[in-house]
Amino acid sequence: MKEKRAQHAFSDVRFQLAYGIFLMVLIPFLIIFNTVFIINQYNKNTDIALQRQALLLARMFSATTKNNLQDTFALQGILDSVKSSSPDILSLHILAPDSDEFRVVASTVLENINTAINDNYYSIAFHQKENNALATDSVKLAQINGKIGLELVLDEKRFWLVSMPLYDSQKNKIALLSIQMSSMVVDELTNSSWRSSLFSLALSTLIAVLFLAASTRLWGYASLYKKIRQVDAMKDEFISIASHELRTPITAMRGYVAMMLDGSYGKITKNVRSGLERVMTSTKRLAGLIEDLLNVSRIEQGRVILNMKSLNPKNVIGEVVGELEPVAQEKHLGLEYSSSKSKIENIYVDPDKLKEILLNVVGNGIKYTKHGSVVISHEIKDYSLEIKVKDTGIGMSAEDQGRLFEKFFRVQNDYTKGVVGTGLGLWITKQLVQMMKGKIYIESMEGVGSQALVIFPLAKTITSKKSK
Ligand code: ADP
Repeated sequence: MKEKRAQHAFSDVRFQLAYGIFLMVLIPFLIIFNTVFIINQYNKNTDIALQRQALLLARMFSATTKNNLQDTFALQGILDSVKSSSPDILSLHILAPDSDEFRVVASTVLENINTAINDNYYSIAFHQKENNALATDSVKLAQINGKIGLELVLDEKRFWLVSMPLYDSQKNKIALLSIQMSSMVVDELTNSSWRSSLFSLALSTLIAVLFLAASTRLWGYASLYKKIRQVDAMKDEFISIASHELRTPITAMRGYVAMMLDGSYGKITKNVRSGLERVMTSTKRLAGLIEDLLNVSRIEQGRVILNMKSLNPKNVIGEVVGELEPVAQEKHLGLEYSSSKSKIENIYVDPDKLKEILLNVVGNGIKYTKHGSVVISHEIKDYSLEIKVKDTGIGMSAEDQGRLFEKFFRVQNDYTKGVVGTGLGLWITKQLVQMMKGKIYIESMEGVGSQALVIFPLAKTITSKKSK
């Protein structure tokens, strides 16, 4: 069983670790993916806009040169003025078909004029219909052969090559216009958005990683908490088993010692009697401790079964007084309960648990009182019965009162050192009182005495609530 638990805890930790690493990789990856996607999309859109601009330019050129396509001088003038209008235009050429080849009739690159070119690219472009153009990215051009006719593919500097046939006013295809349009603006814009995005990307990735690292620590705490609860449950189980196992031999020891003391095994000397009496006191002490531990484990494991009924607590208080009278007498203390003095009504409780509660509270009154008395009384207040146990004992400081209902808490002073106790009684008492919908308060003054107040709602208020 222990092995299974350990395996389970281990696989839990492994799962949490894997989940943490998965998120640590996934979140930055998603942020990076998102940035790359947005920038690429932006780049594509701007590039398309540039391509359209080149096409528009080619169409405008085609429209304005319809009537002077034969006038190379005029064409050269237009080319030069168009080129000077925008730094994005790298070059402009007009080629005329000449048998199987093309001849440059006008160009912004003067040394190209009159050059004859035989290139498949221009032939394909020349076969386009009116107003249609062949638009190609230089990167694609470079992939084919690095140089197309007149158009040099410049290192790393991207451009669009747009070639369009030119028609005269009689719709005869006369020449071919070739425009080289720089993509530098687009690429620079893209680069600058990359630079600014990189900073926010690094920052958001860092925040995501820090956040995840912090939450991994929280997972660590969660698994630690789980482990603590498991260990706590194992401790409860151990205490429960150990206490059960100890109870049987203690009962046997008590029985035999009692029989020896009452002479069942023959006459005993005074010395043996005093020794046996000490053994008896210690066994009783041990039995009390075991009983308290068993009660704690029953409460913590939710194994307390309540047998609730409406009852007049007079008899239970009477039984408690009867059982504790000899103890009080032994200490020369008065133990008073005048049942006839005040009014009493039924309360809704488990009689055995009520007895346990009162035995502890009245027992404490006797235990922690040197001189004087312990007085039990009750009164009806706000539809509840208040049972008061007042002693003239050692009392306690306000600080100690605050910790009174903690498990294993005992006031440390010269007097309490000599009193047998576990520090569990009031914790158990409070749990039982609360289980039966009651309340318990203890007021005390050092050197003057203490008063415990155990309050339960009257049975009639509970039954009337139930019947509603
Ligand atoms: P214990 O077994 O030590 O009596 P309890 O839980 O019943 O354990 O009480 C806790 C501590 O509260 C005691 O050790 C004692 O110091 C203090 N105490 C409880 N009742 C009284 C009282 N009537 N007068 C003074 N001190 C008290």
